[in-house]
Amino acid sequence: MHNSFNHQFQNQKPRIPARQKKLRHLDKVKKIIALPYLIYNGLLKKEASCRTLLQEENNMNSAPKGLVFDIMKFAIHDGPGIRSAVFLKGCPLHCHWCHNPESIESKPEISFIPNKCISCGYCMRVCPNTCHQLRDKQHVYIRDNCSRCGRCTTECHARALELIGREMSVDEVMGEVLKDLPFYQTSGGGLTLSGGEPMLQFEFSLALMREAKKAGLHVCLETSGFSTGERYEETLPYVDIYLFDVKESDPQKHLEFTGVPLEPILNTLEFLDKHGATIFLRCPIIPGLNARDDHFEAIGRLANSHKAVARIDIEPYHPLGISKSDRIGKKSPLAMLTRFPENEESETWIKKIQALTEKPVSLS
Ligand code: SF4
Ligand code: SF4
Ligand code: SF4
Repeated sequence: MHNSFNHQFQNQKPRIPARQKKLRHLDKVKKIIALPYLIYNGLLKKEASCRTLLQEENNMNSAPKGLVFDIMKFAIHDGPGIRSAVFLKGCPLHCHWCHNPESIESKPEISFIPNKCISCGYCMRVCPNTCHQLRDKQHVYIRDNCSRCGRCTTECHARALELIGREMSVDEVMGEVLKDLPFYQTSGGGLTLSGGEPMLQFEFSLALMREAKKAGLHVCLETSGFSTGERYEETLPYVDIYLFDVKESDPQKHLEFTGVPLEPILNTLEFLDKHGATIFLRCPIIPGLNARDDHFEAIGRLANSHKAVARIDIEPYHPLGISKSDRIGKKSPLAMLTRFPENEESETWIKKIQALTEKPVSLS
C-alpha cells in the first residue's frame, strides 16, 4: 500500500498554479524585451570607453612637441642656484656675436668636427645621398645634398657627426629635468628655458613651464623680448624670473647687429614691468660694437626706470660661437673678431654701469 502510493506520487508531474505560470511567462517576456536594452547599454559603455581612449590618444598626439638642442645639467649661470637649462631651437634674431649659432635655425642641423673623425667610413655606408665622401684620403661632407635625416650621426661613434635638435615631448623633457630635483631643492635652483628664443616655440614652452610649476620648480625664462605682450601675459603665472636680454640701446645699431628693431623689445620690457614680473637684465658686451659709454648709460637708465629690474648681469663677449658656426657649416659675421675682453676691461664696464644705478651689477 505504502509502495504503490509512493509510486503513484512519483509519476505525477508537479502541478503549477496558473498564476505562477503567468508570472514565469511574464518574466520571460520581460527578458526578451529587455535584451536589446541590455545590449544597447553595453554598447553605450563600450562607446564611452572608446571615446575616452581616443581622447587620451588625441591629447597625446596634439600635445605640443619641442625642438630641443640641449639640456644642460648643473647650469649655474642661468638664474639662481643649480638649474637645468633647456635650450630650444629657433630664434628670430641674428646677433652678430651669437654664441649659440646652432640655435638660430628652426630645423635640426648636422654638426661635423673633422678632427674627431677616425675615418671608419660608417657614415659613408648609411647616407642615402652620398653626402660623405673620401677625396684624397680626406673626409668631405657635402652639406648641399643633406636632408638632415640624422642617420649618419647615429653611426658615428667617434662623435665627429652629431644631430643638433631633436623633437621631445613635455613629459620627456620633464623626465630629464626632474632627475636633479634634490639639487634644485637644496640650492634654490630649478628650470631655465633658453635658446634660441623659447617664445618662438610658444605652445611647447608654455606647456613645459606649466608642468614645471606643477612640479613645484622655480622657473626662469631667458628671452630676447621679441614677441607680443599677449604671449608674455600668458607666461606670467609660470615664470619666476625673466632673464631679459638687452643687446643694444641705439635703434639703428640694434637693427644692424641683431636684424630686428628695438621698439618691440622695449615694449615687452614695459609690459612685464607693469605686470609685476621680476627681471634680470642680461647684457652681452662686445668690444668694438656695443662696449660704448652711451650704451652703458642706457642700461643704467633702463634699470632705474623699471622697478621689475632686480639686477643687471654683464656677459662679456666670448668667441665660442665662431667654432660652433664652423661645425654647422655657417659663417659667423664676426669670424674676424678674435679679441675678447680681458677681466680688467669687464670690471671697468661693471663699474661704469654700477655708478649709474643702485641695482646690483655683476659679471655673468
Ligand atoms: S638672441 Fe640669442 S640665440 Fe638669438 S641670435 Fe641673438 S644671441 Fe643668438
Ligand atoms: S662615421 Fe664618424 S668617424 Fe666614421 S668616417 Fe664618418 S665622420 Fe668619420
Ligand atoms: S643627415 Fe642623412 S642625408 Fe645628411 S649626411 Fe647624414 S645620412 Fe646623409
